[in-house]
Amino acid sequence: MLEQFLHFKNQHPDKIILFRMGDFYETFFDDAQVCAKILNITLTTRNKNKENSVPLAGFPYHSLSSYLPRLIAANQKVVICEQMEDPKRAKGLVKREIVDIITPGSIVESEYIHSPDDNFLTSLVCEGSEYGVASVDISTGKFNFTQLQKEQLPAELERLSPKEILTLQLPRDAEIAETFDAKISHSQYEDDQIQLERAQEILKEHFSLLSLAGVGLSEHPLATKAAAIAIAHLKDLKKNDLKHIDKIEYYSLGACVQMDKSTVANLELTKSLLEGTTHGTLLQVLDQTCTPMGSRKLKQWVLRPLLQQEAIEHRLEIAEEMLDKIDLTLALRELLSKIGDIARLTSKISTGSINPKEMLAIAQYLGLSREIKEILDSFDSLSLLQIKDNIQNYDQIIDKIDSTICENPQKAITQGGIIKSQANQELGELHQISSQGKSWILKLEKEEKEKLGIANLKIDYNKIFGYYIEISKRHADAVPERYIRKQTLVNSERFISPELKEYESKVLGAEERIKELEYEIFCNLRSFLQEKMSLLLEFADTLALLDVYANFAQISFHRGYCKPKFNDQKILDLKKSFHPVIKELLKTQEFIPNDIYIDNEKNNIVLITGPNMAGKSTYLRQVAVSALMAQIGCYVPAKEASMPIFDKIFTRVGASDNLAKGQSTFLVEMLETASILNSASKDSLVILDEIGRGTSTYDGLSLAWSIIEYLHSSHLKGVKTLFATHYHELTHLAETLPSVKNYNVIVEKEDDKIIFMHKVLPGKASESYGIDVAQLAGIPAPVILRAKEILQTLENSQKKSKKVQLHTQLQAFPASPEKKQTPQNLLKLQKKLQAISTDQTTPLQALQLLSELQKIASQES
Ligand code: ATP
Repeated sequence: MLEQFLHFKNQHPDKIILFRMGDFYETFFDDAQVCAKILNITLTTRNKNKENSVPLAGFPYHSLSSYLPRLIAANQKVVICEQMEDPKRAKGLVKREIVDIITPGSIVESEYIHSPDDNFLTSLVCEGSEYGVASVDISTGKFNFTQLQKEQLPAELERLSPKEILTLQLPRDAEIAETFDAKISHSQYEDDQIQLERAQEILKEHFSLLSLAGVGLSEHPLATKAAAIAIAHLKDLKKNDLKHIDKIEYYSLGACVQMDKSTVANLELTKSLLEGTTHGTLLQVLDQTCTPMGSRKLKQWVLRPLLQQEAIEHRLEIAEEMLDKIDLTLALRELLSKIGDIARLTSKISTGSINPKEMLAIAQYLGLSREIKEILDSFDSLSLLQIKDNIQNYDQIIDKIDSTICENPQKAITQGGIIKSQANQELGELHQISSQGKSWILKLEKEEKEKLGIANLKIDYNKIFGYYIEISKRHADAVPERYIRKQTLVNSERFISPELKEYESKVLGAEERIKELEYEIFCNLRSFLQEKMSLLLEFADTLALLDVYANFAQISFHRGYCKPKFNDQKILDLKKSFHPVIKELLKTQEFIPNDIYIDNEKNNIVLITGPNMAGKSTYLRQVAVSALMAQIGCYVPAKEASMPIFDKIFTRVGASDNLAKGQSTFLVEMLETASILNSASKDSLVILDEIGRGTSTYDGLSLAWSIIEYLHSSHLKGVKTLFATHYHELTHLAETLPSVKNYNVIVEKEDDKIIFMHKVLPGKASESYGIDVAQLAGIPAPVILRAKEILQTLENSQKKSKKVQLHTQLQAFPASPEKKQTPQNLLKLQKKLQAISTDQTTPLQALQLLSELQKIASQES
């Protein structure tokens, strides 16, 4: 038997072999060690302490559906080896075969995928610095591809979030770590030398096409190879022609807003930064869709905001119409919420794993299409009516399913109990025989009890004897001669009788035939549905669209979002804007809305200072998130919103180490900043939070300073930048760089306690209140006291050294400054003085102060 196991293991060395033995799935050797750990099951050993000892771990076969998802979630690939004959009847070793291979990126059964998200297998084919990328979700039939540059790959993989990656060569570990998360399950395509011609053949054959030009594949050789290996790999794995994957779509990264990996992560669009979960993400707050199809579509939209104003406005118009007719929209949502994952059920039709209950569910969902159409009829928008036209008449499918599958059918498809008697004449007759036979047996039991006077005589059934009569031993005398003894138990005896056997053969014969016939009818229905798969997938996609639009209308209605307008003057103007996620998360406190105005000329670099915890990062992010929401066609969290179309959104927020890649916090910070400075354009939105914080004060300040100057330079003139900082020195840039404006988030102090006002106003902040925030956080009092002392000393010495510096500068001035200085020079001096004194001094006062300082400085020196 181990030889048989090794035969399978050698074919699939990278997968766990679940080897069926009677009522258990067993695993051996390393597989057993891995399974025991992941599944928390007992690891035992056969032939313990011997040379040929075998580690072993298993679980009952009927628990497969609870154990398998755990293996897949742990990124394992699994091979299921079934017994292909009854062990009791088998001569010698039981014949076993591989019946399924399940890998994280090739799951069809929706019960193993615990999220409505796309479950992509993504294939990568690389040549030089270019990549072909194709992603297939076998559970929904979605298949898309693109071709991109190596530096675009990390962000794209972040968006696709594949469950498995397929490549031609197994990259070395370091390369894997560089291009994609090494934790993602990884497979290699068997023919690593695949030629373009062969790849084209694979795709043409799969899609029954004469040419690939129509689907955009002819111009993208790497993407063609990637798409071909993805589909060929899955077909081979599943031993199925996967006809539900009947469309492939090319997408260009140039058609949507460019966001790098760290922007997607920092804005917490789909995953939170800290926990990596969906809690507290934009998607979680925006997603109140009613169907899994809608939820998947919304995620795609959030990760790919549009660039074309026309396309964005098309979406906004539909959302507006739904908002205007909110009652109809809510009625539509009610219908949608009764609809399950038709796309995933359709895939199960294709792979043959659909069960009768799921077929009934499809009929039920399709049945709602009529009501959905009726509701859509009441809308005026042409776009919505066009969507409505995609909904076909599904009566034929509904009738076929409803007239075939019985009510409450069994899950198993080979054991009968799934087809209506009326579906087939022969089946009707057989059902009658079977049910009559059963009632005949009940009648016989009653008659025999009365005739023999044995009240506890019973007729029962088991697999070995078929029907039998059981009589307790104390009634042995009453047993008639025509009974044939079959088995003696402790307290009773079992018999058969000729008439019982005669009926039995009739009933059992009918039941066997029922099973056969019902299975045949079921398979015919499945084949019929296979022909209708593209219709079903189109319906699923239409529902997804309606669901997302209705979702936009619903959240805008309840949360007071507004319809954004787009302007050509490239002005970003948000009134009473709020952060959609923080607002939802703040349960006890109210969110303070803020305005933002950034134009193309005098106000395009906004420098925000303010104490810790004031709300700087929140403000920065709410602007970026609002821009993104507008460009996915959603209303935005503000009272009024006018904005340009951004080509790229960048965010450099917070500090994080990437120890796995050997990169320090500061290096990560600089890498991300470099990517922004090298890729931003005049039409981009750049969010910089605390740049330069990861190094020494002067290094950091100098870098932050020169980064602002660079963003201000002519080739990037107009780039909308929000820059939050604790380097108060930077606020002076507003005096020399015309496009830089200072804003600060105000706080108030009451009885030595700070109150966060969360209000952003023009001007600069005077203090950071870092120690006050530390006190709020519960830092022990002695630490706080000492910190205050140290701060005082540092500030004094800084002031002192500033005074000394100023004195040195003053030496350069002639003895009677009031006579020789030009007004410009006096102004400059005044500004320098403002650095140490926040008073609004006049030039004259400044000169008085200068001479004062001169005195102080000479005393001190
Ligand atoms: P630090 O400088 O320490 O990073 P910060 O100024 O960036 O702080 P945020 O992290 O943006 O501050 O905000 C801190 C907290 O203040 C948020 O988690 C939120 O709870 C609250 N907050 C921020 N903005 C607002 C607002 N406009 N209204 C109400 N609460 C807010």
